[in-house]
Amino acid sequence: MQLVRQKDKTRAHRGHVVLIALLVAALGSGCAAGTSGGSGSSGGAEPAPGQQAKEQAGPAGALSGYVARVKRAQAERAVAAKKWGLAKTPLAAPQPPAVKPKLTTRKGFEAEGGESLPPVFTTVPTRDKVVFLTIDDGAEKDPALLRMMSELKIPYSAFLSDYVINDNYDYFEQMQDRGVSLYNHTLNHRYLPGLSYAEQKHEICGQQTRLEKRYGTRPRLFRPPYGNYNKNTLRIARSCGVKAVPLWASEAFPDHMEWREWDRDLHPGDIILTHFRGRKHWKGSMPDMIRQVMKTVTGKGYAVAKLEDYV
Ligand SMILES: [Zn+2]
Repeated sequence: MQLVRQKDKTRAHRGHVVLIALLVAALGSGCAAGTSGGSGSSGGAEPAPGQQAKEQAGPAGALSGYVARVKRAQAERAVAAKKWGLAKTPLAAPQPPAVKPKLTTRKGFEAEGGESLPPVFTTVPTRDKVVFLTIDDGAEKDPALLRMMSELKIPYSAFLSDYVINDNYDYFEQMQDRGVSLYNHTLNHRYLPGLSYAEQKHEICGQQTRLEKRYGTRPRLFRPPYGNYNKNTLRIARSCGVKAVPLWASEAFPDHMEWREWDRDLHPGDIILTHFRGRKHWKGSMPDMIRQVMKTVTGKGYAVAKLEDYV
């Protein structure tokens, strides 16, 4: 593990030239089974700053087109990072996996009974150096967040609770238009294990229906308020179309991170939780919170990937 960590540190310091080389290497190993030693030479083929990559025909040409796109997006991201006051430019996520990882319930998070219920997890099984950003509830509706995330090209997913949307469905529609998926976080954000079966069903399936009616899709993902659930919760969620229950490995605030794991660190595939909150709820704005969490994420050499590419 130590070796890997040192390598990753080096990678972060050498910036996006190395990242591109890694992308080329990863792509090479993914699509050309017979190629050997390709990754070593691809770093040397990288054009000097300011020079254009030579156009090539065939798969190599497609690859250089992909690399050019990644470079262009990264250059735009660097400009946006300056504009929004980020400490560092967010790293580009690697190509999404061809096959999504198989999800299982984290040990200790099972509801008793053993039947096949939607998996409950805090980290997505992957070796990619990526984390996922998820934003809960929906109280604060800051237009700056929409612009900031689009310009920085940082993917995130929203878990909405109807009572805090407060009839401002339009804000989240704008979010959806920008490519953000909206998921179920119940109608009224109640402590589900304290409710009867019928009450839980109202909270969970009622929000499935509400979100489908407002936003056109029935959510595949559901997150119980406070991360608390019992067997009925998972049964009910399954019965109204939920496929998986992502919890979180760490939580972001405008001035600090809170960690679930003893090592107080990020790990590949970790899900980060944060909330739609503003200055009256915590010490900063939504952009302040994003600056803070991205300082941690980028500083540790991670990219934010799109949850839907993996789950
Ligand atoms: Zn919540």
